[in-house]
Amino acid sequence: METDNSSNLPCHQKKIPLWLVFLDNIPTIILFVLGGWIIQFLSIAGAVIYIVYALASVVFFWKKICPYCHHHGTQACPCGYGVISAKFFGKKNDRSFKKMFRKNIPVMFPNWFVPLIAAVYLLYIKSTAGLIIIIIAFCINGFLIIPLISRLVGCKNCEIREDCPWMKINFSEVKVHTLI
Ligand code: SF4
Repeated sequence: METDNSSNLPCHQKKIPLWLVFLDNIPTIILFVLGGWIIQFLSIAGAVIYIVYALASVVFFWKKICPYCHHHGTQACPCGYGVISAKFFGKKNDRSFKKMFRKNIPVMFPNWFVPLIAAVYLLYIKSTAGLIIIIIAFCINGFLIIPLISRLVGCKNCEIREDCPWMKINFSEVKVHTLI
């Protein structure tokens, strides 16, 4: 079903600055690189599969989540996905955003938790200083920096943040990880 019932909202006239797009995307790229790096200690093929999965999950996000978002096809999307998604996937009914987000966001979770599980196993079988540093960097980036950037910068001024399940997921993670 094709609708566009929100293109005139004030937030859609905004143009997110390029530095913010980079700030949103660079930690995600670092997450994939560090995740692949951790997994390659166990298996090179596993690391390649992880990277391919991570990239495919981003395309899946563009296809299954972004078209339902108010920011699809606007430069108000904090990470630029909304613009890229619109080049390949048509806009859908944005009243389904919450439902589609909750249904499809689990596809992204292995990008965080597969390297984490590999890290726990690696620490069990061999703990070297280099490995520990990579794992700490992965955890700080993935479980602290990415949620904090979303909450405090990228999504801070979004006018639909109260409706966005991502904010609730991030808020829970930030609360958990700032307590550790
Ligand atoms: S704000 Fe999120 S869901 Fe909306 S277009 Fe951007 S990346 Fe996609």
